[in-house]
Amino acid sequence: MRALRKNGQTSRAEVTNITGWSRAKTSQEVNALIEKGYLMDVGEGVSKGGRKPRLLRFNSQLGYVVGIDIGATSLEIALADVNGSILRRLVEPTDVRQPPEDILGRCSVLIVEMAVAQGFHPEQILGIGVGVPGPVDFARGVLVAPPLMPDWENYSIRNFFRETFTSAFVVVDNDVNIMALGEQRSGDAADVDHFLVIKIGTGIGCGIMCNRKIHRGSTGSAGDVGHICVDQQGPICRCGNRGCLEAMAAGPAIAEKAMQAARDGKSELLQKMMEENGNVLTPEDVNAACREGDEAALEIIRASGKMIGDVLAGLVNFFNPSHIFIGGGITNFGNHLLVAIKRAVLRRSLPLATTNLAINYSRTGSDAGVLGAIMLALEYLFVVEDDLHYSF
Ligand SMILES: [Zn+2]
Repeated sequence: MRALRKNGQTSRAEVTNITGWSRAKTSQEVNALIEKGYLMDVGEGVSKGGRKPRLLRFNSQLGYVVGIDIGATSLEIALADVNGSILRRLVEPTDVRQPPEDILGRCSVLIVEMAVAQGFHPEQILGIGVGVPGPVDFARGVLVAPPLMPDWENYSIRNFFRETFTSAFVVVDNDVNIMALGEQRSGDAADVDHFLVIKIGTGIGCGIMCNRKIHRGSTGSAGDVGHICVDQQGPICRCGNRGCLEAMAAGPAIAEKAMQAARDGKSELLQKMMEENGNVLTPEDVNAACREGDEAALEIIRASGKMIGDVLAGLVNFFNPSHIFIGGGITNFGNHLLVAIKRAVLRRSLPLATTNLAINYSRTGSDAGVLGAIMLALEYLFVVEDDLHYSF
């Protein structure tokens, strides 16, 4: 089951290797699972000289899984079969400051609609993976002191979904961890053992893939790099402390600095844009001004990149990843941001740590979240007690 969840398919020989069973015993056990309808043979695999092994997959009729990626302003849901092939997906705007019952209730309605449209009963949903934009106590599946969504504190997302989808195993994780899982499944990280995913948007978070497993830490808060202090005298952050990276360099800080530059008369373009926009600027406006060659906007984006890069340099020295993938709302900011980040990392990290280090924007982009939520659900599909103790 573990090999299947990881690779989508496996062979009898691999099952023999993993379990240490004899070939006869493997054959007997596999055949029993095929007879029960859990597994199916899928023709010929790749030849390694000699006979071509037949491959095994989950019987895709067995059931379905759902991936939910709840962002601060949007909600994405995908329905997949037990092999992880996406059957349906949808995105709609949301506001995560609403009470959890409202947003999760909307998710339930959409999931049931998708199931019916696909022609199956919601009872056939075996797993639901949920990503949320806040700190998650992974073992309990609840948010703890989430700055963006205070009403969700300690709310059991698991129990909510279990009431409607009684056969489903529900797993909750933070948005960056599911991005890392999505990157591992379909992105450039498929064969990477140690990598980081940095999400830069309203906040800044980090997903840590260590030995091909998500590192969540003892309570699930590993990777909360947005609250690393970069300036003791900096502005007050959502968390209550001063000068956190997120308060200094994320989307809202970029917009705030641009509005200040406009008010100070440092950029005619930003001033003009602000007047046209009803006296506000968004991070996208700053990006647009930067593309037009506006020096003040360029300076703001470079400064953000440098601060993020300085913190990343510390992470690189500490964790020694081979790849860093940068995602989130800010990834359309182009080269200036990326170059500033890379420069700071290269300047401040140890040479051995940066020899083979690749830092790039994630190419999986916004798909990574919902894909990862499906992977999260699949990870706990047909879970056995031993796995549970290990992971929770
Ligand atoms: Zn903070």
